[in-house]
Amino acid sequence: MININWNFDNTYEMLPEIYFTKVSPEVGSKPKILYVNKDLADSLGLDYEGLLEDGGKIFAAGKPINEASNIAMAYTGHQFGNFVMLGDGRAMLLGEQITPSGKRFDIQLKGSGRTPYSRGGDGKAALGPMLREYLISEAMFALNIPTTRALAISLTGDRVIRQKSLDGAVLTRVASSHIRVGTFQYSAYAGDNNQQREFANYAIKRHYPDILNSENPYLELFKEVVRKQASLIAKWQAVGFVHGVMNTDNMTISGETIDYGPCAFIDKYDPDTVFSSIDWQGRYAYKNQGPIGAWNLARFAESLIELVDESRERAISLLTQELEKYEELFNSAYYKEMTEKIGIENYTEEDKKLVDSLIKFMEVNSLDYTNTFVDISNKDFSKDIYKKDDFKLWQKSWEKRLQESGKTERQIEDLMKGKNPRLIPRNYWVDLAIKDAEGGDFTLFEELFEELQKPFDYSREAGKFKEVLEDVKIVTYCGT
Ligand code: AMP
Ligand code: MG
Repeated sequence: MININWNFDNTYEMLPEIYFTKVSPEVGSKPKILYVNKDLADSLGLDYEGLLEDGGKIFAAGKPINEASNIAMAYTGHQFGNFVMLGDGRAMLLGEQITPSGKRFDIQLKGSGRTPYSRGGDGKAALGPMLREYLISEAMFALNIPTTRALAISLTGDRVIRQKSLDGAVLTRVASSHIRVGTFQYSAYAGDNNQQREFANYAIKRHYPDILNSENPYLELFKEVVRKQASLIAKWQAVGFVHGVMNTDNMTISGETIDYGPCAFIDKYDPDTVFSSIDWQGRYAYKNQGPIGAWNLARFAESLIELVDESRERAISLLTQELEKYEELFNSAYYKEMTEKIGIENYTEEDKKLVDSLIKFMEVNSLDYTNTFVDISNKDFSKDIYKKDDFKLWQKSWEKRLQESGKTERQIEDLMKGKNPRLIPRNYWVDLAIKDAEGGDFTLFEELFEELQKPFDYSREAGKFKEVLEDVKIVTYCGT
């Protein structure tokens, strides 16, 4: 008998019924486990060998687990600015795993078949996009960016029809919860006042238990999420990550990055960078991510009005006051990240200018964002571009600033090398690795995955994966 060590304690299904629907997963005709993330399995207290043996049947063929939850969650969301009814259209919550250290994580299947929220969709996922989420979410984790994680990928053995016929797959996703801004929007839209309160209390208890007994826990919740999102998006900016589809249903309450659809990393610095094929207006371009965070949080605030105060006017005023702090929180989080990238702790106003002028130099000269910071971390200014007068001027004031900081060269180098990844999932390599894998050759995918686990290990040679391939135009797709 295979023992996976599930330790479920399912609480979401205790919420009022409007928040979810019980579902059953689709049965794949030839289920097969492709990958199990051993480190993650270990930290969840799950048996890795057991998952390798039985994971395919559990994740891709509905093999029942005692105590499983099997629910699809209801939510709404603003997609590219328009309010829509959504919900888990191709996902289901298997259960809430309690880890050996007592933490709670959702174990969710993505690509597990149709649900009442599927609308016109088939409820399925193709191998390529699931490999992409597996690779990039784990790379984000290694980059120290809060994110949902990937426990496993399984093949269903069935075909999925997109532009062409593709292998069907299921991603097993792990998150501290799947509660989104969109879930709160749904709650305000579909729930009565008691249901809204019960749901909000649930979310608070799960993510911010310390505020449960505060004077106005719903306002405190808003404050916490504003802080978390400001910090998260600043971290995205610092590594050049473009989420691509920052709809309110793709913004968590926990502050974890979620839904790796049309995401990508910038190569050469260009603030207008956008990758999503359907985002022709550039709503979710790199430079807009900070402000879109505020837009989404305004939608979150709207969903809390009835809870925050009996007087609508007062509630709006209280929430607005908090929302207005976002810009400052985002900016200070951004400059903290960016000044650390150039070896400065406890930045001053002057240091912000140092960051801005470096970024401007990258933009004007179309420099590769990641590799420029790697050169700075290595103090390797051998490239011709660094011989330009404006760079030399920058370098001079930067070096002066570092000398005045009182830190040793070693301390500064360690700070920079801990902040500047020598490697990010470059679009070209991600695409190539996935194309190969779709064709049955997983060599490149595994090589890339391995390397992306150690982004700050400067003793490793990033090799070909650090190459920038200029003329490859990357466009990524939603709803894959
Ligand atoms: P996403 O763009 O992945 O954040 O998904 C937006 C919404 O579309 C969510 O409600 C998804 O569950 C739903 N969805 C995406 N793909 C499918 C699919 N193949 N079948 C059913 N629903 C889907
Ligand atoms: Mg989504």
